[in-house]
Amino acid sequence: MSTKAHRVGDEWSISGQKVWTSLAQHADWCFVIARTEPGSTRHHGLSYLLVPMAQPGVEVRPILQLTATSEFNEVFFDDARTDADLVVGGEGNGFKVAMATLGFERGVSTLAQQIAFRRELDAVIDTATRTGAIDDAVLRDRLVRARMELEVIRQHALRTLGGEQGDGASVTKLLWSNWHRSLGELAMDVSGPASLLVGPDYALDDLQTLFLFSRADTIYGGSDEIQRNVIAERVLGLPREARP
Ligand SMILES: Cc1cc2nc3c(=O)[nH]c(=O)nc-3n(C[C@H](O)[C@H](O)[C@H](O)COP(=O)(O)OP(=O)(O)OC[C@H]3O[C@@H](n4cnc5c(N)ncnc54)[C@H](O)[C@@H]3O)c2cc1C
Repeated sequence: MSTKAHRVGDEWSISGQKVWTSLAQHADWCFVIARTEPGSTRHHGLSYLLVPMAQPGVEVRPILQLTATSEFNEVFFDDARTDADLVVGGEGNGFKVAMATLGFERGVSTLAQQIAFRRELDAVIDTATRTGAIDDAVLRDRLVRARMELEVIRQHALRTLGGEQGDGASVTKLLWSNWHRSLGELAMDVSGPASLLVGPDYALDDLQTLFLFSRADTIYGGSDEIQRNVIAERVLGLPREARP
């Protein structure tokens, strides 16, 4: 954590950079976790600041992705300014607020995805019916399995509505991200050789986009390995992983 912020009158001045910021090019505001206590280390001395994007001190540079779109970005802060009171959770508590934010990202915020997941699965089944892949016993088995697993994921997601945010959310995140990535692979397998063809100007169809984008699902919001560490240490109470 090297992005820093210090007080200048009634404002914070923020300098540093942030990579992989989804949809920064559309956002009016962002949150920035900055080191506000000079000399602090690791998760101490951080604050969670709300920062307006439209100002000279904020520059957004798009990153070209596998899907040929630029959904995420690098964001540079060079003496960016925000009001002194725009600190969520109080000065120095940034890590705690960041962990709560990640709990929402991994768990309850994905509830609405259930609808999209079901629609995507239906599209994969339609494609399998059209290509004849539905008659392949192995692919048919994978489609049935995908349908059952989606129901399990839905039940886990609903459980997070009961207030189980932080640690339980890691279980939900592991389940849905791996399911979705496998669905992308299944989509290509039922499409057959056509899955390798793209249209003019790298025009991808919905299933190709699903396949390529879902590679990121097990990375963003914390990678699989991080979710397993959270489950091991905070849910199961296993000894902490050795830190470098
Ligand atoms: C599509 C996409 C959108 C994103 N959007 C945002 C966004 O809007 N805002 C935002 O803040 N971030 C965003 N991210 C960033 C994302 O949160 C990080 O990429 C992710 O947390 C992984 O961190 P890293 O890239 O630093 O990988 P690293 O931490 O460098 O990890 C590299 C590899 O090492 C493994 N590893 C790391 N530490 C450990 C450990 N302790 N034990 C075992 N294995 C370990 C990881 O699992 C991974 O395999 C996005 C990423 C993607 C791909």
